[in-house]
Amino acid sequence: MDDPTAIVSGKGEPSASAVTAASATSSNFPQATQTVQEQDVNIFVAAQRGDVDTIRRLIESGKASATDRDEQNITPLHWAAINAQLAACRYLLEQGAEVDALGGDLVATPMQWAARNGYLYVIQLLIAHNADPNITDAQGYNTLHLVTHSSSVMALLYLLHQPINVDARDSQGHTALMWAAYQGDALSVDLLLKHDIRAKDGEGRTPRDMAVELKSLGAWKRALDEGGFTEDGIPKRKPLNERNTRIAILTLPIAFLYFMFMTLKILPWYTGIILAMALFFGMHHIVTRVLLDKSNYTDSVAQSPYFAGIITGSIVWVTYAWLTRLIHQTESHPFIHLTLAITIGLCAYNFFRAITLDPGTCPKPSSDAELKAVIEELASQGRLNGQTFCIQCMARKPLRSKHCRICDRCIARHDHHCPWVWNCIGVNNHRQFLLFVITLVLGIILFDYLTFEYFSTAPISTDPSNISPSCILPATLCAITAYDTFLFAVAAWSTLQLSWTLILLATQLWQVARQMTTFEVSNLGRYGFMGGRGGATLHGQMGHQHRHLPSEDSADSNLGGAHTHRHSHGMCGGCGSGFLMSLLGFDRFTKGKAADGLARAAKAPNPFDLGIVGNCKDFWTRGQELGVEYERLYDVPLEGFAEAKRRREEGADDLHANEGGRKSLRNKLFMGLGLGRSSRNGYEPLSQV
Ligand SMILES: [Zn+2]
Ligand SMILES: [Zn+2]
Repeated sequence: MDDPTAIVSGKGEPSASAVTAASATSSNFPQATQTVQEQDVNIFVAAQRGDVDTIRRLIESGKASATDRDEQNITPLHWAAINAQLAACRYLLEQGAEVDALGGDLVATPMQWAARNGYLYVIQLLIAHNADPNITDAQGYNTLHLVTHSSSVMALLYLLHQPINVDARDSQGHTALMWAAYQGDALSVDLLLKHDIRAKDGEGRTPRDMAVELKSLGAWKRALDEGGFTEDGIPKRKPLNERNTRIAILTLPIAFLYFMFMTLKILPWYTGIILAMALFFGMHHIVTRVLLDKSNYTDSVAQSPYFAGIITGSIVWVTYAWLTRLIHQTESHPFIHLTLAITIGLCAYNFFRAITLDPGTCPKPSSDAELKAVIEELASQGRLNGQTFCIQCMARKPLRSKHCRICDRCIARHDHHCPWVWNCIGVNNHRQFLLFVITLVLGIILFDYLTFEYFSTAPISTDPSNISPSCILPATLCAITAYDTFLFAVAAWSTLQLSWTLILLATQLWQVARQMTTFEVSNLGRYGFMGGRGGATLHGQMGHQHRHLPSEDSADSNLGGAHTHRHSHGMCGGCGSGFLMSLLGFDRFTKGKAADGLARAAKAPNPFDLGIVGNCKDFWTRGQELGVEYERLYDVPLEGFAEAKRRREEGADDLHANEGGRKSLRNKLFMGLGLGRSSRNGYEPLSQV
């Protein structure tokens, strides 16, 4: 077992097949099939092409049958399956094709041929016709092994919910999990590990051990580090326990901000600023390297309340400066003092609420049976993919939700993960977040105004003899900073925060008025408006192949789905000149992709848009204006949200407003509107990469 991948890439392809994976995914068939004259197209070529009419003509005229075999002992169903010709597969099965027919050099079934390419919907169709996923081919691979080789996560997910032996071994004693680990497919490994695998290999190692061994590169160390383990898999011991670490990180910035302001107050400016910066770095070091015990200074603080601590500290010292200085010295502004008091109170309250509220965690299936039903339903509708199903949560993904990697859960109407409030911003706490930002901006402006009044009325001497000769600022500013350095430093610090909070507030208000989330806006150029298909996706840029067949049949057009992709393992899979641009995030401005996305945006209007007033109301009521529950919103109604709500209200009146009736009608509407996506203005959820 020197090179496990050699088996997959070398002998793995069905040797009998002239159709490679690449040609199977394109609509034109090259080489052999093109040389065949139109008049003598046989049933095998027609099956490859998915030409149902020709197959029907051949079968009805008696020239061929669904059980025919070509010179390599291959059936038409094999050829249709490996080319993802779903309609042809269905027709051949109706015409009596043998579902588990063995053929080709590897003596494999049609489902095994489809599995090599991860064709989820072909697999689903064949299983619906009682295909046996446990049959093994000449190499000892069953359908599960082959799907694992294909790296098609959704097909793997589907198969794991069929009666299949997860621990089955190939002729060399490898389970599907071992293959997933060899290939470095983290998602597949995760998925297979969830299915309770206890098998050990000849040397007594569990697949988990093998996954550890085989992934012992940088990625694995990093994963261990993130999970709080050393490289040897021993849990790291933090200096404090979980709870105290959080409390320490939350309160540390309060103390350090005080030290920094005092440093500026006590020391001359030229040493004070340097020492204050050193203190800031010291605080960062203590949080990241000591309390969190991480190996770097960045990207390890997102899960900790560090940034929330900085906000808390800022609020504390602004309030302190206001209470100890401004309130006594600027008594002539009672109204502003009252407004500031209310603003600080609201700001602190909404900040606390945004942190503690559940942002809108999406529900998960309560049982295995329910999960299986969800997967089965999505697969039968031809839309089991990464946009409708979350592999990490093992749950259906509602529209406009997104899986947050930091919080490790799907959040309804996900806006963004905000480290400043140590939480995701979703449907449930977006209101509190926006109030927090508004009161923060207002509070800083009021505080700055009072500080200005304080300094303009204070008996500040601008006598040159009182001003430090080292001060390089204008004389008045030198006098002010010397008069009350602490207050000046607090005001300067909070004014610094005003820059980004103002931009944040403006974008948030614009997005609320447009009924869009930060995630949707950031994808506008790449995917078009709220998921209208843009140009090349990020998958494409990263060297993955995607299939998007324009087709009338929704099931066919979604064959493969968002997660069926083939990795090009070359050093430069699809990078070219676009790689640097995409790395820098400039790609959205090049090659007319943004224009393409926006052009599609015009064609695919936002189905959630109710106009500015309606959008604001809907935002405030968490979806009541649209009549939706974002946690359970899986489809856009055919007739649009406004019309669906109107009809629902009419229906509720007809049902003489029975409480239970209203509820069940609502559920029925949600359930019943799940089909016929074609008339929804091309709306699709965003790809989440
Ligand atoms: Zn999720
Ligand atoms: Zn989050």
